Amino acid sequence: MSGPEPRPWIKQLDVYVGGKSQVDGASEVVKLSSNESALGPSPKAVEAYLAEAGKLHRYPDATYHNLRAALGAKYAIKAEQIVCGVGSDEILKLICRAYLAPGDEVIFSRHSFMMYPIAASSFGGVPVEVEDTDYTTNVDNILAAVTERTRIIFLANPNNPTGTYISAAAVERLWRNIPDNVVLVLDGAYAEFVTADDFQAGIELVNKSNNVLMARTFSKLYGLAALRLGWGYACPEMARILDSIRDPFNIPSVTQAAGVAALNDLDFEQKARAHNTKWREYLRAKLLDLGLDPIPSVANFILIRFPGNEDKTAEKANEFLLSRGYILRWLPGHDLEDCLRLTVGTEDQNKGVIRLLKEFLEK
Ligand SMILES: *Cc1c(COP(=O)(O)O)cnc(C)c1O
Repeated sequence: MSGPEPRPWIKQLDVYVGGKSQVDGASEVVKLSSNESALGPSPKAVEAYLAEAGKLHRYPDATYHNLRAALGAKYAIKAEQIVCGVGSDEILKLICRAYLAPGDEVIFSRHSFMMYPIAASSFGGVPVEVEDTDYTTNVDNILAAVTERTRIIFLANPNNPTGTYISAAAVERLWRNIPDNVVLVLDGAYAEFVTADDFQAGIELVNKSNNVLMARTFSKLYGLAALRLGWGYACPEMARILDSIRDPFNIPSVTQAAGVAALNDLDFEQKARAHNTKWREYLRAKLLDLGLDPIPSVANFILIRFPGNEDKTAEKANEFLLSRGYILRWLPGHDLEDCLRLTVGTEDQNKGVIRLLKEFLEK
């Protein structure tokens, strides 16, 4: 008996491995491996979540009216063009499900988000990885990879795991030079952290196009990773398509309520952004002092390159930090075996990680 046979492209998928959250033997760990919020969730979001808890027997609002309205008001965009998902991961999958046939090509940059090849492959798409330059997206390399089979381009901006970004002008140039049957996905998971003047998350481009999808998340700056809430913004036709293939009740009512409260908690948002900018700059300066090579970041994490020295590798630093209960992200599977990715933490955590790295390098 051979049993049921999955589709060939499904059969070869690997299970996604997230950042570690436990260390053998350590009772208290400092988790700086998944780019989670240093300040926790917005207290107003927690309050709104709890207030909904008594209504768990009710189905959620399938159109998440209040959440769409709050997003629409905050960003001055039309609520009908917003689609919410179970994390922005769902938005990335919906776009593949809607626009990919087996054999179609999906382009993304080397050293970018590992969900892109997974999302593409799970619909039979062919992942096409293009070279970046200095850990930064290279628009010309993406354009050179476009073929008749290209259907989607994923662009994480700012990029994860490198923390770099490309300007609004560079994104616009990319968009202007791709065929209009190719969807350009602007994944702005870290957009809320960016303070650079020449950056745009994608709203302006969506407003003048019919082939751009902006994806955003509540998991990072808003600190609601556990609730799995993301959203997409696209032209009316694309938004309608995505809306028609999502699960009808994909966003729980507690999540909808927390999302609205988080969007309205401007005080928390400002604090989170200011904390991030301050401590990211602190970490960068200290890492440079230690002789390490932090890649310039606009997000809430820093990719740290370790110099070639045999004893002081990223792998060994990772082992040392783990033995002290500090979890960073070592990414050998990303072709980044000489790097660790460090999420900006609390003041104590940031000072702690620098102290430990110093100890590691001096021992
Ligand atoms: C974290 C992250 C996401 C998705 O987060 P969700 O929790 O699924 O909303 C999407 N893109 C990038 C680049 C990320 O780093």
